[in-house]
Amino acid sequence: MTRRALVSGASIAGLASAFWLSRTGWEVQVVERADAFRDGGQNVDVRGVAREVADRMGITAVIRDRTTTEQGTRFVGRDGRTIGEFPAEAGVDGPTAELEILRGDLARTILEALPDGVDIVYGDAIERIHDAEGSARVRLTSGTEVEVDLVVVAEGVRSRTRSLVFGDAAELDRLGLAIVYGTIERTDADDDWWRWYVATGERHVTLRPDAMGTIRATLAYRCERDEVTGVEREARESLLDGIFADAGWEARRVLDGLATSSDVYADDLAQVRMPAWSAGRVCVVGDAAWCVTPLAGGGSSLALIGPYVLAASLQDADVDAGLAAFESWMRPLVEETQDLPPGVPGIAYPTSRLGVSALRAGIRVAASAPVRRIAAKAFGGAATDERPLPSIRTDG
Ligand SMILES: Cc1cc2nc3c(=O)[nH]c(=O)nc-3n(C[C@H](O)[C@H](O)[C@H](O)COP(=O)(O)OP(=O)(O)OC[C@H]3O[C@@H](n4cnc5c(N)ncnc54)[C@H](O)[C@@H]3O)c2cc1C
Repeated sequence: MTRRALVSGASIAGLASAFWLSRTGWEVQVVERADAFRDGGQNVDVRGVAREVADRMGITAVIRDRTTTEQGTRFVGRDGRTIGEFPAEAGVDGPTAELEILRGDLARTILEALPDGVDIVYGDAIERIHDAEGSARVRLTSGTEVEVDLVVVAEGVRSRTRSLVFGDAAELDRLGLAIVYGTIERTDADDDWWRWYVATGERHVTLRPDAMGTIRATLAYRCERDEVTGVEREARESLLDGIFADAGWEARRVLDGLATSSDVYADDLAQVRMPAWSAGRVCVVGDAAWCVTPLAGGGSSLALIGPYVLAASLQDADVDAGLAAFESWMRPLVEETQDLPPGVPGIAYPTSRLGVSALRAGIRVAASAPVRRIAAKAFGGAATDERPLPSIRTDG
């Protein structure tokens, strides 16, 4: 009998789950809280084991076509001069990975690759789950009821269904860092490098290219409490203005650009830690299960790898055994990826001029020819694993 799955969340992890479950014979329905497909979001990458998963999905060529064109990462001073740089190199997933793409473009690429028959319902969400006797009965906020063999929760870092099912078992480990991303206008002075400026006062400003003729800007700063998630636009702008007005380099331009940008994403970074990623017939994947944050890197890659491993693990097993196998393959990779590089965020966000000078000296050494490849890997070496992926049989 065909097994049925309900996937909640239609971003990278949810759509990849729908892809792989459907390709391995499940009947799949996806519910997404937003009223339509969510475009938008800034630069993410496909690195490490996720490149193999993308190959197996047949989407690598499309990702390459939609790449952001970024040539590498360049640390700059207040006057814009280069302190050290890490060019993108084939086979080295440095700060700029081989496959860089916008979040919305990656999600759309998976959406377009979905097998026929996957049903996506927008503007709905899980309200209640009754998990009993080998199936989960789910009530949606629209009033619809469905009975399935598996519920896959892929709702991102602040997942509501995760709270409903796992309660306090999911811990949000705050990193004390706020990041605001936005799309701003490109000028003739911009180039195709990720330019990264470290200012005093624990502040970073970065600019990245895209293939659409705009620039993807980031403001990041350290803070004690959550300050930007879910905050109204006006309040956020005045908060950022107070923090970044005197930061230097392109900070003023970014503040002005964000004020008129229609694509702004703000997050107080927190890693998600859970002792188990499933309970009965419900499992979590992607940021909902193990958010690593951009500080660790590899979040979008894990959101591709996890669904593949989930479907492969369930293929010849009952749900309990499959979920256990999924967890035992994924957990070492997730734990290694969550492990932040030494000095992050601490010394990477210096307070004083002395701290900034020391960091720049370190960047100069790291970017020098003899050690650059090794240093680049340490910067961005997330989501890598020596183990072969579990095998999968697809129906076409
Ligand atoms: C619009 C958007 C913009 C983003 N921009 C950036 C960015 O600029 N930089 C960055 O590093 N990361 C960004 N992210 C996060 C990034 O996509 C994830 O860190 C990573 O790719 C893992 O993806 P995920 O699918 O696990 O989670 P997410 O990409 O967070 O996706 C979760 C999905 O679940 C949906 N959802 C949430 N709650 C419910 C619910 N109760 N019921 C049904 N659906 C629900 C959301 O609408 C979303 O579509 C963004 C995410 C989104 C949704």
